[in-house]
Amino acid sequence: MILALVSLLGLVVGSFLNVAIYRLPRGESVVYPGSHCPACGAPLGPEELIPLVSFLVQGGRCRHCGAPISRRYPVVELVSAAAFAACYLRFGLSAALPFNLVFLALLITVSATDLEHRIIPNAAVATAFVLGGALLLATRPLDPAAAGWGVLALGGFTLAVHLLRPDGLGLGDVKLAAAMGLFLGWHLGLVALFLSMFLGALVGVGLVVTRRKTFRDYLAFGPFLAAGSVLTLFFGPQLLALVAGG
Ligand SMILES: [Zn+2]
Repeated sequence: MILALVSLLGLVVGSFLNVAIYRLPRGESVVYPGSHCPACGAPLGPEELIPLVSFLVQGGRCRHCGAPISRRYPVVELVSAAAFAACYLRFGLSAALPFNLVFLALLITVSATDLEHRIIPNAAVATAFVLGGALLLATRPLDPAAAGWGVLALGGFTLAVHLLRPDGLGLGDVKLAAAMGLFLGWHLGLVALFLSMFLGALVGVGLVVTRRKTFRDYLAFGPFLAAGSVLTLFFGPQLLALVAGG
C-alpha cells in the first residue's frame, strides 16, 4: 500500500521534473505560465496533465495540433516512479527516505538536461541544496559534519579537475559533485565520484573503440555522476566491503 503510494508520488514528481527539464535550460519559470504544448502553445487541460495515462491515451501526440510529444516525458515519469519505489524498499519509512527522494529527483533532472542540452541547471542544484540541507538539519538522515566535508571534498576535488581541464569537466559537474557530497557524505560520496569517473572512462573508451566517437568528442558527464550516485546509494555498504576486502 505504501509502496503503491510512493510509486504514485514518483509519477507525479516525474511529471513536474519534466516541466523543469524542459524549462530550466531555456531560462523559463517552472511555475508560470501553466503547462502548454511546446509546438502549438495550447494550454493543457487537467486530463492532459495526468502522468503516463495522458501520453498513452493521446497516442504520444498533442491533441490540439497532433505534434508528437517527446518520449522523454513518459520515460522520466516511469524512471521517477521506479526510483521512488526502490528508495522506499531500500530505506523504508525513515529520515533517509525524503532526503534521498530529493537527491534522486535532482539526479533524474540533471541527467535529462545534460543529455538534451549539455546543461546542469543551477536552479535544480540550488533547490536540492536548500531542500536537502533543511532535511539534513531537521531530521539528521546522516551526520551533518560528514555531509559538510562531503560538499568540500567532492566540490574541491572536481573544481581542481575543472581548473586543470575546463573542457573535460564543466562547472555544472562541479556543483553536482558538491551536491553528491551533501547527500552521500564524504565517505560514500568519494566512492560515488570515483565510480562515476570509472564508468565515464569505460563508456568513453567503448564509444571510441566502436568508432561512434573520437577522444575529442564531448561526453556529458552528468549522467555518469548520477549513475555512480545511484549505485552507491543503493549498494554503498557492499561496494565499501568490496574495496576493503580487495
Ligand atoms: Zn500542440
